[in-house]
Amino acid sequence: MVSAPSGTGKTTLCTNVRQTPDLVYSVSCTTRPQRPGEQDGVDYFFLSKSEFEKKMQRGEMLEHADVYGHYYGTPKGPVLEHLAAGRDVLLDIDVQGARQIRGSRDAKIQEALADIFIMPPDLEELRRRLQGRGTENAQQIAKRIQAADAEMADWKSYRYTILSSSMEEDLIKFRAIIRAERYLSRRLNLHHG
Ligand code: 5GP
Repeated sequence: MVSAPSGTGKTTLCTNVRQTPDLVYSVSCTTRPQRPGEQDGVDYFFLSKSEFEKKMQRGEMLEHADVYGHYYGTPKGPVLEHLAAGRDVLLDIDVQGARQIRGSRDAKIQEALADIFIMPPDLEELRRRLQGRGTENAQQIAKRIQAADAEMADWKSYRYTILSSSMEEDLIKFRAIIRAERYLSRRLNLHHG
């Protein structure tokens, strides 16, 4: 599970990690409008508010949150199926969703869970990155910067924190964490002892 304030480069990071065959990316549902270049079912499942609420009411979301005025949520079924099949799942969710996942009483989720926070260098750099991306207007950027400030206060709740520098560096650290997590004794199924 990875969280990072908007604009930290986490999506690029996740896109890169997604290309690893042994890691399945959990495609979230959202009610926010689709951005140019985004594909329905690949980047997100783009839903209307009522479609999203229906899924929520049916208990089909592992967690959900209101982020910057839109709903975001993780479909439960696919995550549990992948974990049951022994596949690692990557969740890219905000700090509110992360809190819900940490509080999950599902044993499979608790066993699988490793959480990483990506800390942007500072708010000014974050603003530059968001402006450079050009997908949000000034008002939306201001909203995201404000939210980032609040989200950054949560970093200590995560087992790992990556201080974001270049995309290459961040990726190396991210992969190192995933690799180490796979060597945890408790995750190994050995026939000794
Ligand atoms: P964006 O709109 O930039 O794609 O994402 C905005 C924020 O929503 C990011 O912080 C991202 O991590 C978060 N987010 C994406 N999917 C989910 C989800 O399924 N659940 C929660 N709680 N947050 C999500």
